[in-house]
Formats: sequence, structure tokens, C-alpha cells
Amino acid sequence: MKVIVDIVYDGQSPITADQVYERARATLPRISLGTVYRNLNRLVQAGLISESKVGTVQCFFPHPYSNTHLECRVCGHLFSVPYDLSVHQVSQETGLAIDGYELRLKGVCKGCASKCT
Ligand SMILES: [Zn+2]
Repeated sequence: MKVIVDIVYDGQSPITADQVYERARATLPRISLGTVYRNLNRLVQAGLISESKVGTVQCFFPHPYSNTHLECRVCGHLFSVPYDLSVHQVSQETGLAIDGYELRLKGVCKGCASKCT
């Protein structure tokens, strides 16, 4: 749900489900806390946002690095790549309702590259 993605991405700090609920009600007065939780979980699964405990409280925050990997063509391993693709920004600029992404780069990992030279 776009409203919820926007709320999580608007904040500069991690946000709790209750806070998302409070803000979502400004736009969608009839939204339920259950709907907020369901959508937050769906967005986490889609890799658009992240969740983590801050103290004892479960918080949500923007997560632009979810599914970017480099596949080494020598050893075949997949490495996470901190590639800063903002799916949220792409979504805003194109108006597309993106709910996940996968980006696989091909190349040679550092370990294999050092063996080749
Ligand atoms: Zn390799």
C-alpha cells in the first residue's frame, strides 16, 4: 500500500507500527491497525522496507538494498551488493506500483579476481 510506504520513507528515523497507523489515519481515516500490520509485513517480505527491534520495540525503516547481488562467474557465489537503488524513488517518478525487485550483477568476486592475477 503506497500510503504506508510513503510514511515509512518520509521519516528520518525508524517508525513503529502504531506511529504508521496514526499517520495513515490522517489520509485513510478508516484504516485498521490490522491492515497496517498486514501491509508492513507484506512490504518487509517484498524487500521495500526493513524491520528491526529498537530496544524492545519493533520498528520499520526504508530499505533500498534488499535484493541486489553480484553473481561471481568463476565460483558462482552470490554476494550482497550495497547498491543504492531507491525503489521508492523509481515508484514515485514513474507512478508504477512496484512491490519488489531483484537485481543480479554478473562479474568476478574479489577472491577469484585475486587468484586470476
Ligand atoms: Zn568468485
